[in-house]
Amino acid sequence: MCDSDLEQYLLGCVTDESELAMIEEHLLICEQCIDRAQRLGMEMASIRQALVSDQKSAVQPIRRICLAMSV
Ligand SMILES: [Zn+2]
Repeated sequence: MCDSDLEQYLLGCVTDESELAMIEEHLLICEQCIDRAQRLGMEMASIRQALVSDQKSAVQPIRRICLAMSV
């Protein structure tokens, strides 16, 4: 699984049921990806915090990232 898949999953951008199931199943068995998910999750929490502290630009950049990544 690549980082961008994990990122999309953590951002809640993965809406496809089968894709979600695949990612969650993989996270159950792959320690490497669990580590990466935790690391990315922490990065995203700090990104979100930065956005919240700057209310004017909050949400929008994440939305744009999601749109850019969704096919
Ligand atoms: Zn993996």
